[in-house]
Amino acid sequence: MTAIGKRWMMSAIGQPLLEHALELTPPAASEVTVQIAGCGVCHTDLGYYYNGVRTNHPLPLALGHEISGRVVAAGSDAESWLGRAVIIPAVIPCGQCDLCRRGKGTICPNQKMPGNDIQGGFATHITVPAHGLCAVDESRLRKAELSLADVAVVADAVTTPYQAVIQARVQPGTLSVVNGVGGVGGYCAQIATALGATVVAIDVDPKKLEAIAAVGGAAKTINAREVDPKDMKKLVGAFAKERGLPPKEWTIFECSGTAAGQQTAFGLLVHGATLAVVGFTMDKVELRLSNLMAFHARALGNWGCVPELYPAALDLVLDGRIKLSQFVEQHPLDSINEVFESVHAHRLSRRAVLVP
Ligand SMILES: [Zn+2]
Ligand SMILES: [Zn+2]
Repeated sequence: MTAIGKRWMMSAIGQPLLEHALELTPPAASEVTVQIAGCGVCHTDLGYYYNGVRTNHPLPLALGHEISGRVVAAGSDAESWLGRAVIIPAVIPCGQCDLCRRGKGTICPNQKMPGNDIQGGFATHITVPAHGLCAVDESRLRKAELSLADVAVVADAVTTPYQAVIQARVQPGTLSVVNGVGGVGGYCAQIATALGATVVAIDVDPKKLEAIAAVGGAAKTINAREVDPKDMKKLVGAFAKERGLPPKEWTIFECSGTAAGQQTAFGLLVHGATLAVVGFTMDKVELRLSNLMAFHARALGNWGCVPELYPAALDLVLDGRIKLSQFVEQHPLDSINEVFESVHAHRLSRRAVLVP
């Protein structure tokens, strides 16, 4: 195989991403080459590009870790994948080590994250380990009126909150609070609802609150700008009472990735609560950590999602229980520099997926 693809590479912080030719060499035994259908633009990519967050792989590097596509070449141990539509996990564990064998692939020391540890998905092609690939049933995809590029966002924006919701043990009758219902948080709210929770969505952007309520992802919305932080817990408590939901054991998902949002989420702790930190910020907050003790509460985090959970998360999308199309917009890959600027300036309300 001597075909040539291309990838858009970052060479320095904030410098234009440049197109490079990509020679397609045959994948190793346990690897596949995927022709990329779409790659989502995540805030993590912007962190590398604008804020100087270091990538593990030295620059120049193609960013992008929310990837879907079709397997066009496979090594000798991965031939069963040839021709199949797939989602590539944002964190690809080795599958061999002790942690992986115990289902803890997100902390596998040999994990590979495209666009961080290895060349990423802002490209026509990518070569990755076959381990962890998630097959996409294309007839169900068509029935759901989605394209393969649309489901690229399953690789991070959907599966990361999915792992958080599973870890938090959300079940029918749970009261879940989702703070920040942009990209990741919007899916978090939909996932918790799909698993039987009654969801209270909090955001500072009324448009985002409207959007999540419109798809049935939240039973109540609260604009954090209109509520004194001290009254937030009372407001959620009143809603719980009104709906006959428990006053204790709330599951609280912090998806805003802001210091203010983390304060809000921590302030919602009730007895037996679970606080899941899904969003990321470098900012620090001052907390009385002993509240965890006093409330017999717990705080959890998760770095991505283990590949074992991808099929169930994708099922929710293909069954229409997570609405995706309202929250995704496709752009040509060669407009990557403009799209990065638009995302950085918060000009896009939907997740951008770059299509080669
Ligand atoms: Zn991401
Ligand atoms: Zn491992």
